[in-house]
Amino acid sequence: MRDFTVHCVRCRRSTDFPAYRCPNCGSPLVLDLVPASADDCRHTSGRGLWRYAGMLPRTRHAVTLGEGATPLLPLRLDGRDAHVKLESLNPSLSFKDRAMALAVSAALDRGLDGLVLASTGNAAVSAATYAAAAGLRCRIFCATGSNAGTKLDTARAHGARVELVDGHYSDAYAAATRAEGEGWLNVTTTYRNPLLTEAYRPIAAELVAELGAVPDVVVVPVGAGPLLRGIWLGFTDLRDAGLTTTVPRMVGVQADACAPLVRAWGAADWESSLREPVVVAPTAATAIADALRGYEVEGLLTLAAARDSGGALVAVDEPAIAEAGRELARRGLFVEPAAAAAVAALATSAVPARSRAVAVLTGHGAKEPSVLAGLIGGDPAEPSVFSVLSGGDPAGRSTLGALAREDRAGPSALSAHSGDYPAEPSALSAGRNV
Ligand SMILES: [Zn+2]
Repeated sequence: MRDFTVHCVRCRRSTDFPAYRCPNCGSPLVLDLVPASADDCRHTSGRGLWRYAGMLPRTRHAVTLGEGATPLLPLRLDGRDAHVKLESLNPSLSFKDRAMALAVSAALDRGLDGLVLASTGNAAVSAATYAAAAGLRCRIFCATGSNAGTKLDTARAHGARVELVDGHYSDAYAAATRAEGEGWLNVTTTYRNPLLTEAYRPIAAELVAELGAVPDVVVVPVGAGPLLRGIWLGFTDLRDAGLTTTVPRMVGVQADACAPLVRAWGAADWESSLREPVVVAPTAATAIADALRGYEVEGLLTLAAARDSGGALVAVDEPAIAEAGRELARRGLFVEPAAAAAVAALATSAVPARSRAVAVLTGHGAKEPSVLAGLIGGDPAEPSVFSVLSGGDPAGRSTLGALAREDRAGPSALSAHSGDYPAEPSALSAGRNV
């Protein structure tokens, strides 16, 4: 495992973990790991995520529910060959489990009491799952404007406390921010906690081991985008350690309905673009419908990773997402719409037809009953089995569209946060225009 320091992406000020924003300038923080040796990047006798523990930041604990080491399957679609990485088969059915396994391990190291986060979706389920496994408490802040149904019921079933916050997602985000510290580790899965991104590095090693080669392109569904950046960092580890000679182009995919990173990618000034209001239309891909409201500059980390890899940000529309979901279902793969978006993106110009491409399937379809309805045209209004376990409201309807609605309406925290950052071009965006 690798020792690390924490520093600001803008002014480079160091600080101690856990920390969430630079105490000097308010910018996001990142971990700086000591370089990985070739041995660090080779698998160990550990299992799952911890099989590549040498690539991870150092922790003394190693909590696991069997996350990581997810299957990689070949997929032939529309006459082209690709592979899909089934992150949907992690213990709580999404890629977030990798981050939460690392987060609870770090929390135990430091004697923290529990996890706190803002989420209505995969992260809430994952945090509750891993807090339960580690014997920690879990507080989830959820906006009253959300309709999170089944996923929050699942979190309650694991013993998490779900606290409703008047307003929209940005209000829940702010509430989680106020609750962090004093024994609570904030694991809101944007870039707020700089540790979480690091948990995705081993995905690069898993892909190379399974493929026997470095992929040409890796397609990743992105909201804020820590998954894309984490996988990219893993590939740079392998290259810098001398185990590989190439790196893949990282392609981030968003839904047309909410695509602030795609908009910024095409703009001359990334940061200015990210700070412009985002109009969010209804989308099935709620897991990536993130307007970044209140933490706009975090998007720069994802854009920089795509740029450094020679990749791109692309958007796909709702019919393409739906069709990809149906095609995957016909092949026995039941995934959330955000994951289907990655497969839809295989048909875009960002992924050359003859390239060795991998699409990361981020989450399972089983957590959103209306996903099933979209696939078969049925009625999703069946009571949730989880509501029985948790004693919650059985009217657990879908989260589809809830995130989109909450992001579209109401005043945001953006204006309050904008002044926290210096006006000059960021170190992250520097180089974009050259
Ligand atoms: Zn700073």
